[in-house]
Amino acid sequence: MLQLKNISVSYGPIEAVTDASINVEQGQVVAIVGANGAGKTTLLKAIAGLMQPRSGEILFEGQAITASPAHRRVQYGIALSPEGRQVFPDQSIRDNLELGAYARRLTSAQLTDALEEQYRLFPRLRERQNQMSVTLSGGEQQMLAIARALMGAPRLLLLDEPSLGLAPLIIKEIFAIIRDLRSRGITILLVEQMANLALRLADRAYVLDSGRITMSGTGAELLAHPEIRKAYLGNAH
Ligand code: ATP
Repeated sequence: MLQLKNISVSYGPIEAVTDASINVEQGQVVAIVGANGAGKTTLLKAIAGLMQPRSGEILFEGQAITASPAHRRVQYGIALSPEGRQVFPDQSIRDNLELGAYARRLTSAQLTDALEEQYRLFPRLRERQNQMSVTLSGGEQQMLAIARALMGAPRLLLLDEPSLGLAPLIIKEIFAIIRDLRSRGITILLVEQMANLALRLADRAYVLDSGRITMSGTGAELLAHPEIRKAYLGNAH
């Protein structure tokens, strides 16, 4: 579904991602794990069209999208739930969700249906739909960020650090939602520092180390790999 071919991405003179090649097959959860600053967010930004790679190619469903602007990629079926949620704090939950559907140009009846779908998936958002987003808990804001991305009706959902700063119980809830989305046929590319959780869930995974892909395999393979256990999981795992 998604192919990155030898992608390099820079911030001025700083190369954050170097020669990365990744495949995401339809219906899978694919995880990218790596330490702070490894380049995970940069990679997702390049896929979403928020950064232009310096070299390499991005194919989505067989079409080159390397030069497509971000809004066009949303129309093609790619949506990003960004790191740190980035919900609009002074807008209501409902307004944030509506913005997620902006590129689809829905009729008001279609918009109501799309909102209804998210409220079914995230009942807490329904209860709070007129509340300002700034008043939500961290977990609720994460749910809103995911729901806002889903309002774009993506076939490929890019999730950047959904566990960031959340309590263990909420993280469990978020990961259950990710499983549920996969069972509904949404393909997911998940960036996570919580490598143990991400690898347990992932059909396939890549390790990003200082901007380079250093290892790949099934989630189970990487979970069992001695080097991964040492570097990312600690011996206790
Ligand atoms: P984290 O988990 O901490 O978010 P990450 O793996 O997502 O890390 P990136 O945020 O992609 O990593 O950063 C990769 C590299 O690019 C880092 O060295 C970072 O300092 C650098 N970088 C990120 N954003 C910028 C920027 N706007 N300008 C310059 N350098 C940047």
